[in-house]
Amino acid sequence: MPGFEIFGDEERKEVTDVLDTGVLFRYGFEGSRNGHFKALEFEKKLGDITGAAFSHLCASGTAALCTALAACGIGAGDEVIVPPFTFVATFEAVISAGAIPVFAEIDETLCLNPDRLEAVLTPRTKAVIPVHMCGAMARIDEIKTFCDQKGLILLEDACQSIGGSFQGKALGTFGLAGCFSFDSVKTITCGEGGGIITNSRKIYDLCDQFSDHGHDHLGGPDRGADDHPIIGTNYRISELNAAVGLAQLKKLDHILDTQRKHKNAIKDAMANLPEVTFRYLPDPFGDSATFLSFFLPTQARARQVAANLAQNGVPSPYWYDNNWHYYKRWHHLKGLTGAARLAIELADNLPDYKDMKLAESDAIMERTISMQIMLSWSEADIDQRIQAITKSFKK
Ligand SMILES: *Cc1c(COP(=O)(O)O)cnc(C)c1O
Repeated sequence: MPGFEIFGDEERKEVTDVLDTGVLFRYGFEGSRNGHFKALEFEKKLGDITGAAFSHLCASGTAALCTALAACGIGAGDEVIVPPFTFVATFEAVISAGAIPVFAEIDETLCLNPDRLEAVLTPRTKAVIPVHMCGAMARIDEIKTFCDQKGLILLEDACQSIGGSFQGKALGTFGLAGCFSFDSVKTITCGEGGGIITNSRKIYDLCDQFSDHGHDHLGGPDRGADDHPIIGTNYRISELNAAVGLAQLKKLDHILDTQRKHKNAIKDAMANLPEVTFRYLPDPFGDSATFLSFFLPTQARARQVAANLAQNGVPSPYWYDNNWHYYKRWHHLKGLTGAARLAIELADNLPDYKDMKLAESDAIMERTISMQIMLSWSEADIDQRIQAITKSFKK
């Protein structure tokens, strides 16, 4: 899965282009940058790949989410529906915006269940952030229909799912904006980086401004001549990070082909294990195939198989016990433990984070095991894994 597995001469060349000019900043310095605009080039390519009209790079996926939330006008007191199975960054971004994360149940897509959004809807609900977890899609068409009917903003966290699609349309393009992460363990890495895509000129302009202190980038070569239509912050990406990502992005097709081939080999081999059912994929052809996720009949059996897999040399995430990706262990959220005082503490409509009950999500996640699909596996590696997996299911 991670782009770092195939870091090579292409990345080195793009970075050297930047180092040779000494211009590490994405804006300005036209005279000395020798025509290199790596962030800009990355953005154009991201737009081409996803079919989105506009694309903007940020310092991280989290910065992209914070920027997109701000651009969508989501802030103090607004409720935002999010899933309990995601990386903590999703709800952190909502809290950073001064808004309130409200958790809804997931289904066997391992993503938000569109049929369970209504249950947590209130007059203060402003947006829904489905997270396309582990490389594949939520029931995004149904989530979009719900948002349209209720007048809610749809913002997609596609941080783990670059290259994924639903019925031929790229993940991240269904809502008002979509966010990607290019951190060190994602499909494409910049080292650190994130991206926002949108079809709205207005949202794009606000993202471009917000992530650069409000600069409107209309002042010409003198940055000091820019106007500042909004208050922003600094979530800019550096040219060095963008250069790494640009080389990686050019390899996306190869990455996806390899992941799909490796995943299919393992999935086929597991298809005759009577206890196993696979994660529901609303469109199997749009799976970016970074993970193979499956269900065991009971929690006890899932724990046993996960332990066997680790013992047999194929450690595989059992997310139910995971510190970072499932709500059960988000003690900092439960206590609203912030470094500074949080705006959310002032809200009078806070969910009871200490005592969240997500029984349907628990019933799925307690039986779920995922396997990360790596790019660097040889055919022999895959055969060995299949043997280890088969052994792990013996009773
Ligand atoms: C990685 C990730 C993020 C945050 O991205 P960073 O680039 O690490 O800040 C957000 N959401 C999800 C689902 C992620 O997996």
